[in-house]
Amino acid sequence: MKKKFLKTLCLTALGIFICSTITMAEEITTSAVIPETSTTVISTTDTTVASTTNTPTDTTIVKKKPKIKSTIKKISLNKTVLRLNKKDSRSLKALYTDKKKEGIIWVSKNPSIAKVNKKGIVTGKKKGTTYVYCMSKSKKVKAKCKVVVGNFKYMAVTFDDGPSPYTKKLVDSLKKYNYNSTFFVVGQYVTAKKSVLKESFNNGNEIGSHSYDHAKLTSLSESDIKSEFNKTKSVVKSAIGIYPTLIRPPYGSFNDTVSKLADVPMIYWSVDTLDWKNRNVNYVYKEIIKSADKGEIILLHDSHPTSVDGFIKALPELNKKGYELVTVSELFKLNKKNLKPGTMYYNCY
Ligand SMILES: [Zn+2]
Repeated sequence: MKKKFLKTLCLTALGIFICSTITMAEEITTSAVIPETSTTVISTTDTTVASTTNTPTDTTIVKKKPKIKSTIKKISLNKTVLRLNKKDSRSLKALYTDKKKEGIIWVSKNPSIAKVNKKGIVTGKKKGTTYVYCMSKSKKVKAKCKVVVGNFKYMAVTFDDGPSPYTKKLVDSLKKYNYNSTFFVVGQYVTAKKSVLKESFNNGNEIGSHSYDHAKLTSLSESDIKSEFNKTKSVVKSAIGIYPTLIRPPYGSFNDTVSKLADVPMIYWSVDTLDWKNRNVNYVYKEIIKSADKGEIILLHDSHPTSVDGFIKALPELNKKGYELVTVSELFKLNKKNLKPGTMYYNCY
């Protein structure tokens, strides 16, 4: 009887030992997906999350599972690589559904290279490469982005007259290179291309207005100009959730009335590639490479397949030469220049 009791006791002890070993192993596996420098959890107000993260080897605290209810099923980021210079800040966009408001946190693997704040704004600190993680508060799901702090030349390539049947190919190619552009869309084409516009916007591209009918605004009455702007605003908002952030008047044609009615900044261009006239892939490619420079605003049209293909052909070379293609608004922000509604801007030197 005594022997049997001792045997049972031994087996129970062994069972507890095995169970706790498995639990610890699980905890370690879970914490292994969290970057080492997770003491830099920025946005959390939840101490359970912070303490669990900071001391992954402390079993007493590790055993305290976060009480956060995991409701976010998937997180994705708009970029897999973010390139920026020292002291510059660029935003990452996290895409996820969070109806029950679990919330997300941002973490930099190495904050001495690049730090990230609770809004997903990454700031370059010194040259190097690191990763930024975006995770649900329960840490059940996460996404990461490689961050390269280097010496990049920011430039904006803009596309007018779309969306068109060629826009999707362009949006995909921009994503492949983690580049962004500003699309000045013609309002009347938007509704039929809602999904590509939304995808483009989610990838971090900027949507500007190029009027509703591609009208020469200077030959219209005040009320007709207003209608061109308002109709475009409304279709863009229904496609992407926000109004166009910039205006490029068709033909670059504007006057005081147009300026007065424009409730966002107006953008001209510093390089006219004449891609609409020379519909040849190699011509467009060479024009882009020839004119590429820091602070330029290059004009192209995604209504022509030759322009889209010429641009795609130029992408690997632009990348190799250290160009970082950003939206027009980001270009000005990176250069610490403010944009005022109703004012026309030609470049960002
Ligand atoms: Zn146009």
